[in-house]
Amino acid sequence: MEWKAIRKRSEDFAGANLQDYETSVATFSWSQEQTLLGGLPQGGLNIAHEAVDRHVLAGRGGKLALRCIGRDDRVQDFSYADLQAAANRFANVLARWGVGKGERVFSLLGRTPELYIAALGTLKNGSVFSPLFSAFGPEPIKARMTIGAAKALIVSETFYRRKIEPIRHELTSLGHVFLTDCLDDPPAGATDLAADMAAASDSFETVLTGPEDMALLHFTSGTTGRPKGAVHVHQSVVAHHVTGKLALDLHPGDIFWCTADPGWVTGTSYGIISPLTNGATLIVDQAEFEAERWYRILEKQKINVWYTAPTAIRMLMKAGAGVAKRFDLSNLRFMASVGEPLNPEAVVWGLEAFGMPFHDNWWQTETGGIMIANYRSMDVKPGSMGRPLPGVTASIVERKQGGEIQESAKPMIMGELALRPGWPSMMRAYLNEEERYRKCFAGGWYLTGDLAMRDDEGYYWFVGRADDVIKSAGHLVGPFEVESALMEHEAVAEAGVIGIPDEIAGEVVKAFIALKEGVEPTEGLRKELLGHARKRLGPAIAPKDIAFRKNLPKTRSGKIMRRLLKARELGLPEGDLSTLESEEQ
Ligand code: ATP
Ligand code: MG
Repeated sequence: MEWKAIRKRSEDFAGANLQDYETSVATFSWSQEQTLLGGLPQGGLNIAHEAVDRHVLAGRGGKLALRCIGRDDRVQDFSYADLQAAANRFANVLARWGVGKGERVFSLLGRTPELYIAALGTLKNGSVFSPLFSAFGPEPIKARMTIGAAKALIVSETFYRRKIEPIRHELTSLGHVFLTDCLDDPPAGATDLAADMAAASDSFETVLTGPEDMALLHFTSGTTGRPKGAVHVHQSVVAHHVTGKLALDLHPGDIFWCTADPGWVTGTSYGIISPLTNGATLIVDQAEFEAERWYRILEKQKINVWYTAPTAIRMLMKAGAGVAKRFDLSNLRFMASVGEPLNPEAVVWGLEAFGMPFHDNWWQTETGGIMIANYRSMDVKPGSMGRPLPGVTASIVERKQGGEIQESAKPMIMGELALRPGWPSMMRAYLNEEERYRKCFAGGWYLTGDLAMRDDEGYYWFVGRADDVIKSAGHLVGPFEVESALMEHEAVAEAGVIGIPDEIAGEVVKAFIALKEGVEPTEGLRKELLGHARKRLGPAIAPKDIAFRKNLPKTRSGKIMRRLLKARELGLPEGDLSTLESEEQ
């Protein structure tokens, strides 16, 4: 099936921040954008100041900044002024316990208000914020806190007893622990955060930080191997702000829902910082995915801009477009997706269910912010990640022998996606892993490790991770293309594709498929799917074998772990599993 481009009419993008892509690219300058942000009153740049204080200083303190929806639907609201006061208290608490500039504050919390307050208060204090995903067990926590030399930790009492107490003696740098939801007397070396906060002043002068001071430490998702700790600096805020404005079309007063957890970079860059710098209201749901609940939130909170991920979209698709139609979603203006390739099927399903396509965009923990995107005003080619952000130079390159890097001149040549360093939110290091960091750069490019193609209109098309690409009988096969073709079949809910060593072809393609609810994994269906794929892709690229699975192994951030499918298939070591979501087979 050929996917037709989704043409935008001018009424589709009335009032959009980015009206004309070419003009925006031609006139863009990062330094100009930086001057539009406030900067600290005493000079310097601080993310929390731009996210919160700047609005309060400008008289917008009464606007709603954060709404946390509890599992029981109870709502907690914070205006920009409330958020500032709470962040100030937390900064004072940190200072009082001797946590200083540049020192690392980790969090291990559900999506409760304390998480958001801690993030902002830590940044105000000039300390470095490193959010951990709350479902991690003791080992992945220990590994990350050790790499980051954690000085302080903010954690719920329940998580503390279960996950931290057993490893506390090994966390040698850890000076202090702040407990939320503390019911008992705090153990030695810990205090009750609520009591500390109550005793602290709600005014605090943000510590003078410069653009190059370290602000955030984010660990990658561990999809391809052992996670890396990417270091980000305060200057990132310029990219958070601009990309939210241009790629997500955030306007002041918008109600914005980013469904990612702050334990992953998306949940911090776009679940905290970007919407706040843009003066939006951010909606946070503490509960886990549930189709009806999500539609209810979209309706009841009157969400204008929604940023989610392919796994969630595929789950909504499983439930059917009919469910969406039962809700009043008339406030929705823009929907975007990130984290994994978004199958064309899913982009177009957006039209059916919501009356607008999902807009895919691409970035990484290392890039700190969105780098390639489908914009509200630009035609969408289903299956494409879109075009580079204004201010971002991307290319498709080939690593030649001897280390030389060559840009591909022609369109639709598969190569490595590369970016010209210099955007504000580029990582400044992999903490304690200089060699691994250095290897990401060559010939004046940052090499992303992803393979892609660029068409003659400058749209980028994701092929697969360099590690996942299959070499079969002289063809390079991108798993995404094969997975997307399989996804077109009505029985398929999810597909993961890998290469299996083969004496003749080098590798052959094998697909793992999770079926939609109620569909039986029969031999007849397996043959039908093999036939469907052959018809769609041709015999060279189509899978030679298909296996059914109840679920595919995924990272906790929802990415299919193809390396694990492969290791299991070949009986090889499974490698780092710290981010693997528990599996129901
Ligand atoms: P690790 O680097 O530890 O293996 P990871 O690469 O999954 O983990 P992240 O930084 O969270 O960690 O994810 C970035 C990667 O996710 C990208 O390099 C790309 O492979 C994939 N990705 C993100 N967005 C998209 C997208 N829109 N289309 C295709 N792939 C995407
Ligand atoms: Mg990566």
